[in-house]
Amino acid sequence: MSSETEKSVPRLRIAGRVGRSRVNGPGVRAVIWVQGCTLGCAACFNPGTHAPGETDASADAVADALLADWPQSVDGLTLSGGEPFQQAAGLAALCARVRAARPGASIMAFSGYTLEELRASDAPPGAAALLAHLDLLVDGRFDVRAPTERPWRASANQRLWVLGRRPADTAAAEGGTAEVHVEADGRVLLSGFPDPALRRAIRELAR
Ligand code: SF4
Repeated sequence: MSSETEKSVPRLRIAGRVGRSRVNGPGVRAVIWVQGCTLGCAACFNPGTHAPGETDASADAVADALLADWPQSVDGLTLSGGEPFQQAAGLAALCARVRAARPGASIMAFSGYTLEELRASDAPPGAAALLAHLDLLVDGRFDVRAPTERPWRASANQRLWVLGRRPADTAAAEGGTAEVHVEADGRVLLSGFPDPALRRAIRELAR
């Protein structure tokens, strides 16, 4: 492979992945958390995903792993982070693979950017390509001063946009607002929208 071709293969930095979640969008969803976010929301509850990180793989390799572990009962894919739109080109390539292999699946993303920022002329590179794949977007910086109980929002300023097909159950979150995954290596992953007391309890358990 020439170095020019190598440069053109989209790369992704991934913080984590689960095959089935009920708290990261409508229905049962595969979730990918990307590594890296420079937006700096105060009191972000995912600070471990801020550093650029070194876990680097081709979008095709991530797609292969995701699709190999995709049960029939999964309704869609959610992209979270970290900041998905700071790796938009790679995620657009990943979404294209998911669209081709699972045409009935919905694709959703959580972003700290607003939709207006993502559509602006100075949007992050690849933003338009990634937006074109999304059915649902939750947008905006996390604001710790504006708590909310609305499904899939971490703060009241964040908005849920239907950009493509509307999944059947966007009106309400199913199965609660937080869940705990225990990974094969024993790591504990807290996902969704846990309240501060639950976050503290899980942190203690994970020590
Ligand atoms: S955009 Fe998301 S990951 Fe980035 S600092 Fe804000 S809440 Fe945290």
